[in-house]
Amino acid sequence: MAATIVTRFAPSPTGRLHLGHAHAALLAWQAAREAGGRFLLRIEDIDPVRCRPEFTAGILEDLAWLGLDWDGAPRVQSAHLPDYRAVLDRLRGRGLVYPCFCTRADIAREVAASGHAPHGPDGVLYPGTCRRLSEAERRVRIAGGEAYALRLDMAAALAGLDGPLFFEEADRGRLRCDPARFGDVVLARKDTPASYHLCVTHDDALQGVMLVTRAEDLLPATDLHRLLQALMGWPVPRYRHHGLLLGADGKRLSKRDNAPTLAALREAGRPPGEVRALAASQVRP
Ligand code: GLU
Repeated sequence: MAATIVTRFAPSPTGRLHLGHAHAALLAWQAAREAGGRFLLRIEDIDPVRCRPEFTAGILEDLAWLGLDWDGAPRVQSAHLPDYRAVLDRLRGRGLVYPCFCTRADIAREVAASGHAPHGPDGVLYPGTCRRLSEAERRVRIAGGEAYALRLDMAAALAGLDGPLFFEEADRGRLRCDPARFGDVVLARKDTPASYHLCVTHDDALQGVMLVTRAEDLLPATDLHRLLQALMGWPVPRYRHHGLLLGADGKRLSKRDNAPTLAALREAGRPPGEVRALAASQVRP
């Protein structure tokens, strides 16, 4: 029988988990367990520079200590690179993705020369330099061994849609998407085979995830994820973006601000039940 609900926790092993992560994991775990559904764990370790195996081990250890169990083996993204490559190939075959040879310096120069620097949620918008290259020129540069990223041709992607896109956000209802503000977003970096946006959307579809719980700093990215779902014909989960962790002063806490890690709380002798309660309470609603 199909599960009534499938949820997931999808951390990137770039450091130890903190209370904000515990909050996202608990929301997903509770939603699944209360409804007799499935709770999946996915390790989003696509970035070989920032991700480390010892942090993956730390994630498993911290979740088990908190008392959270997951269904099946965790999906480890770095073991599935051909899946993401296949999506990029399909988009490329439809003319929706193009190779970009620009360095950061090239982009900065081009943006400075244009006299204006519009920004999207991921930073300055790409000025479109490599979108204008001919196919022949692209072939020559690739054959010459030049490194390239792959970018979504946003205008072409939007042109193929039937109408505006929407998704369901818990407590807020149906939200209308504006993916155009990402511009020609990178879907595969020169040093990373696929972007977070591509992998997370692919995997949520592949794994039949029905509810995505994550911090509200990823709410803008959902517009782009919704576009990828539309382009690939993937199902659209419901979303619940929760508030960010607050410090004693009421301001947002992040890894940078030394948000307490679960490992540190454990070492300080705090019992798991207390840490779960802390994770549930210290988040802006
Ligand atoms: N891997 C992402 C992170 O750790 C979260 C992805 C998601 O929940 O959609 O920031």
